[in-house]
Amino acid sequence: MGRYDIAIVGAGMAGASLAAALGDRARVLLLEAEDRPGYHATGRSAAFWTESYGGPGVQPLTTASGAWLEDGGFLTPRGALTIARAGHEAELEAFAARFAVLGVRVEVLERDALAAAVPGLRPGWTLGAFEPDCRDIDVAALHQHYLGQARRAGAELWCAARLCAATAGARGWHLRCADGREAEAAVLVNAAGAWADGVADLAGAARLGISPLRRTIAQLRVAPAAPATLPLVLDLAERFYFKPEAGRLWLSPHDETPSVPCDAAPEEIDVAAAIARLEQVVDWQVERVEHRWAGLRSFAPDRLPVYGFDPAIARFFWFAGQGGFGIQTAPAAADLAARLLLGDAAGPIDPAPYSPVRFR
Ligand SMILES: Cc1cc2nc3c(=O)[nH]c(=O)nc-3n(C[C@H](O)[C@H](O)[C@H](O)COP(=O)(O)OP(=O)(O)OC[C@H]3O[C@@H](n4cnc5c(N)ncnc54)[C@H](O)[C@@H]3O)c2cc1C
Repeated sequence: MGRYDIAIVGAGMAGASLAAALGDRARVLLLEAEDRPGYHATGRSAAFWTESYGGPGVQPLTTASGAWLEDGGFLTPRGALTIARAGHEAELEAFAARFAVLGVRVEVLERDALAAAVPGLRPGWTLGAFEPDCRDIDVAALHQHYLGQARRAGAELWCAARLCAATAGARGWHLRCADGREAEAAVLVNAAGAWADGVADLAGAARLGISPLRRTIAQLRVAPAAPATLPLVLDLAERFYFKPEAGRLWLSPHDETPSVPCDAAPEEIDVAAAIARLEQVVDWQVERVEHRWAGLRSFAPDRLPVYGFDPAIARFFWFAGQGGFGIQTAPAAADLAARLLLGDAAGPIDPAPYSPVRFR
């Protein structure tokens, strides 16, 4: 039976990035329940990096990840525009101010500038907050990069290997997968996305209340075609976002429907709601829904991610609750978690706000 320093449950963006960050300093085993890694949330994202997304508590992780993602060639310019209806100007100004004090570049745009940025914008949308630094992320390339880096450093990836039992002993964990494979590991990392609380159950740890919430995206053909220069357009009231993608439009109703951990599928009612909301924003014709999908974004009760050793169960490490920001924060989050696991000196990010200790 193989013995490892660290076994990571889940080979989505979280598990893959952490395995890469650990490098050859630990013998790492990545366990992935599916036939291929990236099948769940990681393969279903809207693929943007924007510093305000996730709120001020997440922004340090997003900002700290930007330069590495840019240098690696994973980002392309997009720009993000958060728009508000008449009567909500004060909230829009407050939103912009909240991120400007954190060092995020954000400009408040009046109606004329908004209409220039979003052709066909309907009257009534009066103010916007523009973040010029927002980027599209090449999610598949990033995920593959991490998996490749981990593999070259010696990590093993077992696919179709759903962890179904974890028993703690004097030397660490005895792990058993549903297909019968077994391994031993000194430390067990929970990077299981929507299944994080279920993995805690296996290890005898208390659940943290990591809740999977379904998010839907529809790919639309619209007329006139979505201009390639369109920014990511987000609603201040969080009822939609949309962005162009290869001549099409990716549109989400910003849904957050509670779900059990599962292979999430889109519901027609959510796609219809998204289109109805889009029609209140722009005068474009929706010609066709070409494609639709849904994924689970998993949040801790305070909507901040959870990185760190469980306070009650020895050698059990949480790397979960990446919500709607697990791609854009991956480099900084993996660096932080690797430092904690390897006992390295503190890095640029203060781990305290993300520690699981905050729930005890
Ligand atoms: C529609 C949508 C849009 C999004 N847009 C963005 C965006 O624009 N930018 C951004 O940064 N983020 C975005 N996100 C969020 C981002 O996708 C997630 O935060 C991120 O993918 C989470 O990665 P993960 O590895 O934790 O989860 P996952 O990718 O879900 O990986 C968890 C893995 O654990 C495996 N697993 C579970 N249980 C077990 C077990 N017992 N044994 C073995 N393996 C197990 C699962 O099979 C799964 O592959 C979006 C998400 C959705 C759904």
